Amino acid sequence: MKTVLKNGYVLIAGQLQRADVLIDAGMIQDISPEIPASQNQVVSIAGQVILPGFVDVHVHFREPGYTDKETIATGSLAAAHGGYTTVFSMPNVQPVPDTPQRWLQMQQLNQQKGCIHIQQYASITRQRTGNELVDFKALKQVGACGFSNDGSGVQTAATMYQAMQAAAQVHLPIAAHIEDDSLAHGGVMNAGLSAQKLHLPGIPAVSETAQLARDLELAAATGVHYHACHLSTAASVELVRAAKKRGVNVTAEVTPHHLLLDESMITTDNPLFKMNPPLRTLADRQALLSGLLDGTIDCIATDHAPHTKLDKQGSMLTAAFGITGLETSFAVLYTSLVQSNLCSLAQLVNWMSTQPARIFHLTQAGRIAIGAPADLTVVDLNHWTTITAANMLSKGKNSPFIGRKVAAQIKATMVHGQWVYQQEAK
Ligand SMILES: [Zn+2]
Repeated sequence: MKTVLKNGYVLIAGQLQRADVLIDAGMIQDISPEIPASQNQVVSIAGQVILPGFVDVHVHFREPGYTDKETIATGSLAAAHGGYTTVFSMPNVQPVPDTPQRWLQMQQLNQQKGCIHIQQYASITRQRTGNELVDFKALKQVGACGFSNDGSGVQTAATMYQAMQAAAQVHLPIAAHIEDDSLAHGGVMNAGLSAQKLHLPGIPAVSETAQLARDLELAAATGVHYHACHLSTAASVELVRAAKKRGVNVTAEVTPHHLLLDESMITTDNPLFKMNPPLRTLADRQALLSGLLDGTIDCIATDHAPHTKLDKQGSMLTAAFGITGLETSFAVLYTSLVQSNLCSLAQLVNWMSTQPARIFHLTQAGRIAIGAPADLTVVDLNHWTTITAANMLSKGKNSPFIGRKVAAQIKATMVHGQWVYQQEAK
């Protein structure tokens, strides 16, 4: 049976327009002001907004290996709850998908257990550590979407150089966690005023920028598509801006938390504010937003990093790095950026859906159009609510946004014409 989403507003060419959407066999068959209900299953979404499903190129689903933190089932449901229809899963699981066989096992799990589209990264080096490279060609052949050692930077320049040469040959991106361990060791938050006040060891901005400068030179020399993960500093934005200007094949992402939070908000030793890279200064945060607005930064990615309650207890000195993000990203960004007129809804949707799909060459994602797959999310932009742990579907409740009032709510998410999340009527 065909489905009509009736009386909603659709984001078309950057404008919200009143339109019905007809879905058949997983595809969008028609978009027009009035589609008759006859013969069709009608879903009334009066006053709500239909957006292209969001695409997150940086998530951690923890399975296999760490299923007390998250599973593919709970992680993908959390993604659907946040309006995402496609995510890219990082390879810091156990076993690491660093051979074609292990990658295929991983992807099979994704397909069996995930309720949305999951693209799977392979690691850059064996076991995601050291200097022994994976077989880039074989991993491309089985279907890897790119290569990443996320969680740690590649420490040796020669290793990164060879990895980029190999990735360039198979036309796949390197998605880099950028961190020089020799400059960052022991830090738990930004090396700055808040760390000094709290007597906690800091991670200096140079631990990111020094390696980013190195990597941009290597990317220029190899021609690889270099994707810079979770930029956190103003100097990093400037490095990427200059590299783009001289034609380096670089793209970059920023997280919602680096856009909306900064170190001045860390007034107690609170592990919910511990992530890597850390929250930097207000000036860094402003530079990240400017970078998004001028196109230096291409997209927003959550770096969804669920942990157990125990992992995030106690002091920042011992707690795990990382916070969740999939279920809160749209609501917090819409409220803080769009409602404050810092950007438009169309820009936010571009950064969360169209752009990540484009830079990773997903031709079927990131758009609402006749003939495109029905991967979409239905949002109420006029529904104030408070973010609570109880409403989260992720196993991880480690979000610094809990308690925040937000102006928008994801009502339902559809992947290939099937509802994968629908808010229960209350
Ligand atoms: Zn990372």
